[in-house]
Amino acid sequence: MTKYIFITGGVISSLGKGITCASIGRLLESRGLKVTLMKCDPYINVDPGTMNPYQHGEVYVTEDGAETDLDLGHYERFTQAKTTKFNNLTTGQVYNAVISRERRGDYLGKTIQVIPHITNEIKEKVKKVGEVTKAEIVIVEIGGTVGDIESLPFLEAARQFRLDVGYNKTLYIHLTLVPYIKCAEEIKTKPTQHSVGTLREIGIQPDILICRTEKPLSQEVKEKISLFCNVPKGAVIEARDVETIYQIPLEFKKQILDEIILSHFNLICKSSDLKKWEENVVTKALDPKHKVSIAVVGKYIGHQDAYKSIYEALAHAGIDNDCRIEIKRMDSEDLEKGSIEKSLQDICGILVPGGFGYRGIEGKIKAIKFARVNKIPFLGLCLGMQCAVIEFARNACGLSQANSTEFRPKTKYPVVSLLEEQKKVKDLGGTMRLGVYPCRIKNKTLASLTYAKKLILERHRHRYEFNNKYKKLFEKKGMVFSGIYPKKNLVEIVELKKHPFFIAVQFHPEFKSKPDKAHPLFREFIKAALERQK
Ligand code: GLN
Repeated sequence: MTKYIFITGGVISSLGKGITCASIGRLLESRGLKVTLMKCDPYINVDPGTMNPYQHGEVYVTEDGAETDLDLGHYERFTQAKTTKFNNLTTGQVYNAVISRERRGDYLGKTIQVIPHITNEIKEKVKKVGEVTKAEIVIVEIGGTVGDIESLPFLEAARQFRLDVGYNKTLYIHLTLVPYIKCAEEIKTKPTQHSVGTLREIGIQPDILICRTEKPLSQEVKEKISLFCNVPKGAVIEARDVETIYQIPLEFKKQILDEIILSHFNLICKSSDLKKWEENVVTKALDPKHKVSIAVVGKYIGHQDAYKSIYEALAHAGIDNDCRIEIKRMDSEDLEKGSIEKSLQDICGILVPGGFGYRGIEGKIKAIKFARVNKIPFLGLCLGMQCAVIEFARNACGLSQANSTEFRPKTKYPVVSLLEEQKKVKDLGGTMRLGVYPCRIKNKTLASLTYAKKLILERHRHRYEFNNKYKKLFEKKGMVFSGIYPKKNLVEIVELKKHPFFIAVQFHPEFKSKPDKAHPLFREFIKAALERQK
């Protein structure tokens, strides 16, 4: 008895469709429903794994090792849904499946067309998500903006869906922009009217409109939107800018968006309970006691979304430690030039995120040395761990030319290198060490204090590994290998003795942090940063 909500976007991109979907998911979960969310991406890449973060933003990795759109991160942070490869569908995947079938001869005698073959494939994949997750509600986010050529097959599939499963099992929500024009001092509804008009041309009449706006929408404006867009007035929902994204489920609840959705589906559910969310997340995020400055030293700093999950995980750790995190985004390439002391003044913690390629590496290494020598709390993630290892080799073990073979294939001291199995890899898409792996934690280490567990599960996305040949030497010089993947004896966590908080991990803990349950590594990192500030 699964119900499907399709969410489209209009007027412009970057309206926060992913966060809107996630917030609706949270709101419906608070009514006791089992929810899952799916993202349809209209690009032709099979997944975003091969794209530059400047093109796409962060690549979010699921437990089962799918490289997916960063909106899945919002889904997992807001809701209980566990996403997998089924929760992100791209045009590339759809065509890949249909063309393989055509080559196999499955459609012998037929002409393969966008309608019905491509649209059928999309509909199958949407139904599949409901089946594998056993969700009562599947929220389907259609990427792009209505009017784009690329997203047409997805919209057509969404239109047909209502024919297939029925009116009361499908709901169309359109997210749109209602801009405020400063010089006219007026709110304008025309872009929304046009966007809904375009959607109707495709055959979709939205049931609910969610209007992004800087200013409150008056009754008059809502009435106008309702009249011109053919949507009941009560179903014109205001989505005003908020201080923290975690407020949005509460804002929707105030406008009884959950009731509108449930009554469309003829569902009767328990009343919603967002009290804990409000107390433990929103109130704490809005009014913290302390403040602390953290440097994130990376090379995709200019892009809002390239380190999305890391910024969110820091915010969660802030909520847990009753403090506002002031993130100083630092371009590692810039740090390569001048003196680092000045740039990192007043910083109480340094985080080096993941990444690929040599550009900016020396700046990251410099920042890590600064953190190590000056006893500033440090958290290294994936490439951040590899850089910490290189720095330690060069400056604490006397291996002055040490490097990763990713950057210097012929380096004299390959402290980070490829495993044999990775050397054989030819296709670059989807072939990294991906998804969840177990890690055994060594007793009496910072890692064991942090996790308070012996065995943890964390998500990976990398090719290169610490080279075990150097383990003994490193241990002698004070590095502790506190987390190991037992099956292959791979180093997962390194830390330093005689340092208040220096820890780096080969995996990506940021993907598992939640606003109401900060990841232990981020939580303790911020705690250490606060200590330093005192
Ligand atoms: N480039 C490094 C590797 O492939 C690190 C990857 C990452 O930080 N995600 O191993």
